[in-house]
Amino acid sequence: MSSHIAKHDSTKTFTSVNTQMSENRVLPPISAIRHARGTLYNSLEPLGEDEAIRHIRKDIIPGLNFSSRSSNYYGFVTGGVTPAAYQADQIVTECDQNLSVHLPNESIATEIEHQALCLLCDLFSLPRNEWLHRTFTTGATASNVLGLACAREYVIAKAGEKSGHPHLSSGEHGIAVAMLQAGIEKVQVLTSAPHSSLAKAASIVGLGRASVIALNKPLSATFESLQRLESHLQQEKTASIVAISCAEVNSGHFATSGYEEMHAIRKLCDKYSAWMHVDGAFGFFGRLLSNEDYPELARACEGMELADSIAGDGHKLLNVPYDCGFFFSRHLDIGMATFQNANAPYLDSTPGMEPAVPSPLNIGIENSRRFRALPVYASLVAYGRKGYEDMLKRQIALARGIASYLLEHPKYELLAQTEGQSEATLDRIYIIVLFRATDDNINPELVKRINSTRKIYVSGTSWQGLPACRFAVANWQVNVDDDLALIKDVLDDVVVPEKI
Ligand SMILES: *Cc1c(COP(=O)(O)O)cnc(C)c1O
Repeated sequence: MSSHIAKHDSTKTFTSVNTQMSENRVLPPISAIRHARGTLYNSLEPLGEDEAIRHIRKDIIPGLNFSSRSSNYYGFVTGGVTPAAYQADQIVTECDQNLSVHLPNESIATEIEHQALCLLCDLFSLPRNEWLHRTFTTGATASNVLGLACAREYVIAKAGEKSGHPHLSSGEHGIAVAMLQAGIEKVQVLTSAPHSSLAKAASIVGLGRASVIALNKPLSATFESLQRLESHLQQEKTASIVAISCAEVNSGHFATSGYEEMHAIRKLCDKYSAWMHVDGAFGFFGRLLSNEDYPELARACEGMELADSIAGDGHKLLNVPYDCGFFFSRHLDIGMATFQNANAPYLDSTPGMEPAVPSPLNIGIENSRRFRALPVYASLVAYGRKGYEDMLKRQIALARGIASYLLEHPKYELLAQTEGQSEATLDRIYIIVLFRATDDNINPELVKRINSTRKIYVSGTSWQGLPACRFAVANWQVNVDDDLALIKDVLDDVVVPEKI
């Protein structure tokens, strides 16, 4: 297969479900959802295999929204599934291989995971030998949990060193005991326009949602100022984690504007023994873009390699099946201190594989886990850097096509833009387009009008406290011309005067 992922390559591979859904349907009819709801079995009386599967095909599949199957579903940041990833995922199910302990003489599986993670390092231009704590997760939320868990381990241990208590470990002693001995009263997560999952992660790892402090400029993904960040870092009896949003999900904007800013944040983190975490769920992929073609975006992705840890998503822009995310950290020792599973071998050296492959169960949440590395490996090998670059360029081209159409449309307003909308505005557009109607009477129901066409699907959100709509372009199947034509039709149609 060529490295280019063409729009309809997948039709053969998706036959079993394809035969049951019409092309490019973004939502099922309400009646299909109601029907499915009404047919759910509510008893443990055995139906038999054939009947159970017949029920799923006939009753349940028509009620699913197939959000990742259509390139015209622009809700959330949904992604899709490349044909190679799809087939590999079927194989994962067939083989039901557990990825838990590295057993080099029993299965090649952990080495495939290792290889897929090394290829991801290459894709994102992270030196393989510096990012030795790397693992697959269930998504960027889980990756943020890993990031904050490692950060917590690190910052409290650092505070302990300063107060004459070396070797303090939250993993070993518990967060309350470790903090008490280290002489700190709180751990704060300083961030800019964070994704909601960061507060969830803070809750899970025992820091609390209230520990997350957003220091961005109003209506912006960027830090208000590094001085303000520093003044928070200076607080007494406080350990800090700095979490950088690359990119922010509502506007698609990045927290930093270039290497210098990231470097300055790195220096502050070093000065105050803070951990620097990047949430790059979908922004990570901006690192595929060249400075020549995408100067704004390429600059915004500079310096991610200076972080201590990075969260990324597989089921979004990598276009592999749910559920898949990844986590990279430069501190394998901290990862082990956080996630080590008693009684499991730490590292099993493998002939010819240097550095040694860590057992996945010692560096992540689960002990037993799905072989979610295989679809990633398959898709990276099938399409390579070029395939993913092409895919991302098409997605950006569509997002910019939508943005430029909205800029010129008298009935729409493009949001989250810098003053004086111009060509330069488009240079900042990544894969997210935020907008609303100029007529405020339409806005409360604009999302509903658009989505009830069932031709395209957008997310409802808010901007400056008022309702807004958002396109997130994330599917491998994007066809800029066809999709833009359809979007324009729908957007024109929902603001015609007779519908107001
Ligand atoms: C989507 C997203 C997340 C959460 O990812 P899941 O894969 O849904 O868990 C976290 N951070 C950012 C910036 C995101 O866009």
